[in-house]
Amino acid sequence: MGAAGTVTGSKFLVNDKGTRILVDCGMFQGFKDLRELNWQDFPFDTRDINAVVLTHAHLDHCGALPLLVKRGFKGPIYCTHPTLELTQIILMDSAKIQEEDADYANRKGFSKHRPALPLYTTEDVERTLPMLKPIDLHTPFQIGSLTIEFFSSGHILGAASASVSNGVKKIHFSGDLGRYSDPLMPEPEALSKTNYVVMESTYGDRDHSNVSSKEVLKNCILEIAKSRGVLLIPSFAVGRAQNLLFEITELKRNGEVPAQIPVYFNSPMGHEVAKLYEEYHGFHRLGSGQFAEIMSEVHTVKTAEDSKALNDDKSGPKIIIAASGMLTGGRVLHHVKALAPDSRNMILLAGFQTPGTRGHSLLTGSKEIKIHGLYVDINCKVVSSDSFSAHADRSELLRWLKSGPQAPERVFLVHGESQSADELRKRINRDLNWDVVVPRMNQIIATN
Ligand SMILES: [Zn+2]
Repeated sequence: MGAAGTVTGSKFLVNDKGTRILVDCGMFQGFKDLRELNWQDFPFDTRDINAVVLTHAHLDHCGALPLLVKRGFKGPIYCTHPTLELTQIILMDSAKIQEEDADYANRKGFSKHRPALPLYTTEDVERTLPMLKPIDLHTPFQIGSLTIEFFSSGHILGAASASVSNGVKKIHFSGDLGRYSDPLMPEPEALSKTNYVVMESTYGDRDHSNVSSKEVLKNCILEIAKSRGVLLIPSFAVGRAQNLLFEITELKRNGEVPAQIPVYFNSPMGHEVAKLYEEYHGFHRLGSGQFAEIMSEVHTVKTAEDSKALNDDKSGPKIIIAASGMLTGGRVLHHVKALAPDSRNMILLAGFQTPGTRGHSLLTGSKEIKIHGLYVDINCKVVSSDSFSAHADRSELLRWLKSGPQAPERVFLVHGESQSADELRKRINRDLNWDVVVPRMNQIIATN
């Protein structure tokens, strides 16, 4: 019921003799026709769902949970411990953004809906959070006739794949798969023996660059060290920012870049997330105390005033990491306004940029972008790289798919734009000769 022919709105209903579980309950994002799906009724009765199995805390996987609860769902929502904590932060933030957007639309009077309403409110999220129940990895648990088990997927802190079995047949949902060479997150765990695989295909049609993210960062930092400028890195507050902080600290410690260049992390939410990286160190490659040590070397930008003061201080070189990653909002916009007109500075786009966003305009070479009603000249250098991706690329998806003890009976490709999913389908078909399909939205598939 989501992430079919698109990358957002992940939602899969498994029905076994009356036990109904939902694997993920994500929000639709991006173009308007997708976002409008969030306002439609779910294509099932919410009261018939026994439980939700949540693979990870990204909004396109957990973002519709408050809607599910608002519309009558009363059961538990199972996920790993870090996912539980990250989901709390992300859903509260999501409700706040939607309340602010509705408020803004009402004040400006530009919404067709009067009054404009938020998709859900802080109260809806507060009703949802107590329903989250933590489960350890590799610890099978029961929902009605179904047995569920979580395995590490290496994508972001706490991210998991989930197997669902009724004792006769097993379905393995990949969730979002991370990279085998991620500097901070563990490798995706091998696929268990299963009848069916439901796998993501975000990058099903391409491989990432083989220049490592660390190398890209190193070159950018050395360049601003010379120009005495500012390196601005727009970043998601969850996952990407923590990886960046880790790699920059490594480069400094190894003497590959000047150690005295200060790093400013301008994201209050990102700081909360960084604390979870320390608390749940068993879920990444670092040991106890190591992430806290990284954060002790980073300057915290707490208030909006601190953020402004940072723009007024013209001394360089320095590095600023701020959200949002695609320049759709957040404190990073003030930095772009202040820094982009100066050719000594540099902007590093370290993540996927959706068409229609300011980040995408920068990526495609725009010489000016509109921020807060004003045009800002882009005279600084803009660099981009897909090496920072938290998603497996085509070769890694195939590697994971072949990591099980035997070929599954059938593979379903989800969570990809049509072209990515279809290219991967052809590749699996050609190279492995396995039964593989790309399901349509709301398609019902009977097993056995
Ligand atoms: Zn994700």
